[in-house]
Amino acid sequence: MAQYFADIFHTVSSVLQGMGITLKHFVRKPVTLQYPDERWVLPERFRGFVHNNIIRCNACLGCAKACPVSCIYIETEGKGKDRYMTRWAVDFNKCIWCGFCVDPCPTNAISMSHDYDHSLYDRRRLVYEYVPPDKPVPCHREKRLEMGYFVEEKSAGEGAEQPKPRAKPAPDPAPAAPPAPAPESPPAGADRKGEDQ
Ligand code: SF4
Ligand code: SF4
Repeated sequence: MAQYFADIFHTVSSVLQGMGITLKHFVRKPVTLQYPDERWVLPERFRGFVHNNIIRCNACLGCAKACPVSCIYIETEGKGKDRYMTRWAVDFNKCIWCGFCVDPCPTNAISMSHDYDHSLYDRRRLVYEYVPPDKPVPCHREKRLEMGYFVEEKSAGEGAEQPKPRAKPAPDPAPAAPPAPAPESPPAGADRKGEDQ
């Protein structure tokens, strides 16, 4: 008889214990974010997709040379004052989000953004093009000044470049073109094309 009541007691107490846990979570604030309307606040140094503020980029090739997997494609045309950058692209199929391309940039054009959710069905669209086909970027200093592109300051006297600030870059003279995924992968052997110019 005693065992009978002990079993009833254990059954009821375990049910109450389970219900207590359920009720505790029922009144607790939910932790699930309603993605994509809500997003986590990312750490400041989070390394998302590489972004090039093309208005500041002068095709110096520093980033492409620093990239350990050669996934930055830079192409230029012309010489001297008529040298233009016709392509600056990143192949995110190959990118390892190391951030090595950011430090060598003399104009703070390139940065690791907080973008991370670029899921696609076609991996060929992971090659991001930053130079609009109809708007090549001038490389020559005078042309850049003339056309309103960013040009880094020179220190007085020696003509040397000022130390590069590591803080956020200054506001741009004109809005940068938004990156657009390319419809197709770059042709084989296109890596670092233009480095010898
Ligand atoms: S983050 Fe690293 S792998 Fe990606 S483009 Fe920059 S240097 Fe290359
Ligand atoms: S290092 Fe900076 S300025 Fe030079 S090509 Fe790369 S993004 Fe452009």
